[in-house]
Parts: sequence; structure tokens; C-alpha cells
Amino acid sequence: MPLLDFLASSPLAFVLSTLTLGLLIGSFLNVVIYRLPKMLERDWKIQAREVLALPAEPVGETFNLMLPHSRCPQCAHTIRAWENLPVISYLFLGGKCSGCKAPISKRYPLVELTCGVLSGFIAWHFGFGWPAAAMLVLSWGLLAMSLIDADHQLLPDALVLPLLWLGLIANAFGLFTSLHDALWGAVAGYMSLWLVFWLFKLVTGKEGMGYGDFKLLAMLGAWGGWQILPLTILLSSLVGAVLGLIMLRLRNATTSTPIPFGPYLAIAGWIALLWGGQITASYMQFAGFK
Ligand SMILES: [Zn+2]
Repeated sequence: MPLLDFLASSPLAFVLSTLTLGLLIGSFLNVVIYRLPKMLERDWKIQAREVLALPAEPVGETFNLMLPHSRCPQCAHTIRAWENLPVISYLFLGGKCSGCKAPISKRYPLVELTCGVLSGFIAWHFGFGWPAAAMLVLSWGLLAMSLIDADHQLLPDALVLPLLWLGLIANAFGLFTSLHDALWGAVAGYMSLWLVFWLFKLVTGKEGMGYGDFKLLAMLGAWGGWQILPLTILLSSLVGAVLGLIMLRLRNATTSTPIPFGPYLAIAGWIALLWGGQITASYMQFAGFK
């Protein structure tokens, strides 16, 4: 394929085209973040009614990741294609709906921008090849599940489990670590948080985490191998402490406000996957082991 040959030969073209792709994917992630929890809730309600032998609810409007088309929540104005360009449309519209001038949440362009920058960075960090492609898919998934967890305290299996399998498949080809280390990474990732959860529950009688967090750490272990787990857990508490303090300031929340753990694990795991080796090595050197 001439296009792939060109991207492989020009790092700048690869970074720029991946950044653009990232912006477009970010626009799609906004839809996933908003709709996937609603789709799951619909499914759960249907299943619950079946189990309870209640009459099924009348079938409502089709609702999936493609339909209905995006609308303004204020005036139901359908978002046209030119109003749906990542970041650009937001700036062009001045952050307002073209129909009713209701403000559009800053979060949409921010998610698009974050996704674009992260994608471009991965292209630059890994260069053209399968590791970059796999890492892009993982990063998009982590971004979506972090925001869903922040909104709903929910890490959907529909995102976490396919990415767990994908990590094992990637490492069957040795992309990031050996398949052996990836397998034990998944097992140890799940077990370590599961143990913490039960110890915490036995001691305090409270539940500090959800099962989604165990699966997320298992997924990260499947990508980076068991070696990244200690650093991931350590970094996630650091990220959690820093972001937690910022959010306490911003939202005026109290310490009893439930703060989901998923986003911290996702950010920490992402950092550990990219720089885990270097961070551990320099720490060991600092601590005088080498
Ligand atoms: Zn509107």
C-alpha cells in the first residue's frame, strides 16, 4: 500500500496523520462516553424485567452508538456534519449551539483534543508499526472508560474485557512483553486488588473499590506483564492523591464524596506501560541498588 509506505518512511507525516485520526476518534469517544452507559442501563432493565417475569416495556426509539444522530440537548437541533468537526466546529460556533445558542460543554472539545494529542504522542514515541497501532487502541479505550467511570462509577465489561484479550493477543506476538508475563500480569492484577478489597472490607466493613477496578488492573497486566503492576499501583495512589486534592478544591467536595479509582489506575497504567522500565531503573539507582 503506497499510503502505508509513505507513513512508514516519514515520521512527521505519521505523527500528524495519527493526531488527526485521534481528533476524529475523540469525537466518537464523546458519543461512546455519553451513550454506552445509557445503552447498558437499557439492557439491564430489559433483563431485569425478564427475570422478574414483568411485561416487557414498549420498544422505544433505536438507541445505539450510531443512531439517533447527535442533537442539541436544549433545542433538539440535529448536529450537522460541519458542526461535528473535532475542536474546529466548537471554536467556529463559539462554543454555542447554532440553533438556540445554548452553551456546548467544554468537555467535548477537551476530550477530542486530549485524544488527538495522546494519539500523536504515541505515534512519535513508538514510530510506525504494530506497537503504535495496539497502543492507540488501548489509549482510546482507557480514555473512554476513565470518563465513564468518573461519570457513573462504572467500568463497562464491554470495554475492559475486549481490551484484556487484545493485550494477550498483542503479547502473543511479543509486542510489549512475553505472553507468559502477560498471562501472570492479568492474574496477579486481578488477584492483588481483589485481596486488598477483601482485607479492607474485613477490617473496615466498607467497600473501597469495585470489581471493575480488578478487571482494569488485570487488563493492564495483560498489556505490560506482571512487572508493571507494583509501579501502576504506586503511581495510581499518587495520581489519585494529586487529582483528588485538585478536585476537592475545584468542586468543593467533601472527603466522603466517592472518587472512582478507575481513572487513576488507567493513567498510572498508561504511564507504566510507556516508561515503566526507565522509572523503575532510575528508582533502583536512586535507592542504591545498582
Ligand atoms: Zn440548541
